[in-house]
Amino acid sequence: MKFYSTNKKVDPLSFKEAVIHSLPSDRGLYFPEKIPTLDSDFFKELNSYTLSEIGSKILAPFTHEDIPKAKLKNITEEAFNFDVPLKKVENGIYSLELFHGPTYAFKDIGARFLARCLAYFNESHNQEVTILVATSGDTGGAVASGFYDVDGVNVVILYPSGKVSELQEKQLTTLGKNITAVEIDGTFDDCQNMVKQAFLDKELNETLNLSSANSINIARWLPQSIYYFEAFKQLQNRDNLVFSVPSGNYGNLSAGLLAQRMGLSVKHFIAASNQNDVIPRFLTTEQYEPLKTIPTLSNAMDVSDPSNYPRLMELVNGKHAELRSLVKGFSMDDAHTLETIKSCFEQNSYITDPHGAIGYQALKDTMTADENGIFLETAHYCKFVSTVEKALEKPLSQPGFVSELMSKPKKSITMSNSFKEFKSFLFG
Ligand SMILES: *Cc1c(COP(=O)(O)O)cnc(C)c1O
Repeated sequence: MKFYSTNKKVDPLSFKEAVIHSLPSDRGLYFPEKIPTLDSDFFKELNSYTLSEIGSKILAPFTHEDIPKAKLKNITEEAFNFDVPLKKVENGIYSLELFHGPTYAFKDIGARFLARCLAYFNESHNQEVTILVATSGDTGGAVASGFYDVDGVNVVILYPSGKVSELQEKQLTTLGKNITAVEIDGTFDDCQNMVKQAFLDKELNETLNLSSANSINIARWLPQSIYYFEAFKQLQNRDNLVFSVPSGNYGNLSAGLLAQRMGLSVKHFIAASNQNDVIPRFLTTEQYEPLKTIPTLSNAMDVSDPSNYPRLMELVNGKHAELRSLVKGFSMDDAHTLETIKSCFEQNSYITDPHGAIGYQALKDTMTADENGIFLETAHYCKFVSTVEKALEKPLSQPGFVSELMSKPKKSITMSNSFKEFKSFLFG
């Protein structure tokens, strides 16, 4: 299987090459040349498959030229080693809990798979890879944790001092082993610039084997399709299935459309967004008009120009009418998000995080009686505990795993925002 760039100005690459390159030089996104369809045996046997078995069956056609079957089995067993339970919230509405991984958010799935692919591709080289990541909080944590204890890979993660939450900082700085956290006296933009400069620095690249773990890497995107099958497996009544997907960069929703193209029976998807509603507006007006990003309580979705928009369009062959028949738009502001967290808890004793809450409410507002709805609960509410406490108007006790993390000692290297200092640090 080859992967082409959605801008079609560069040659298609193998899976391995696309993973290593990450971003095509024509600024498109890598996309599979063919979308395999699953046979009826897969669906007949689905109930007996584990998440990692679903993963290796779904991902094999994309990867088999570069990853032997047995190796893919190892990779998926290591990467998808936590539960993705489907919980009934109320009649006809279910929550797909994607937050049982190490950083309590769904990005663990893609990050853990990418980490193990890169480590495997590097096995034949005798030099370690150094992954550089800049983070404003969440995504970097999932990447760093995804690479934790993976052989042959060192991760250096830069974050702006004092500008990430305490929980996020603990997730970055308590891992140790092959993960080094560098605390920069500066902003997130400084961190990002230092990483960019490192990739452009000839001397560094000649000495170190540098690599990135960019969020639009094909190895982070493809595995996001597997939990749609996992949800389907756990659902009793699969008639008129609707997936409501809290969306920012649209990796998650486009991976759902990929699952549907592979044969999963879905009636439609809902693009559940906060006030940064470029896709819901595009669905109604047919005009793609990114506006200034508005900060919201569901901040992982504060995206005005979603990076996966090209993949979304590729999945419908560029046809707006087709996208509109498969995806309904929905958006909600912060005041309604707080109300939803409260009403969902009062009615169902189920706590949603600010992202999942939007997915839940989108189902409440748009579902018909004959539909079954699943919203993706993309993060554990403890990551946004102050917002949830505000919504519920009461203090919440921390789950055990949070207090455990908070009690671990922080280990970081402090540094100014000068590239020179960073470079000499990388040279060790
Ligand atoms: C990243 C993220 C999202 C948005 O997912 P996309 O794939 O970028 O649309 C939603 N919720 C949480 C908690 C996230 O971390």
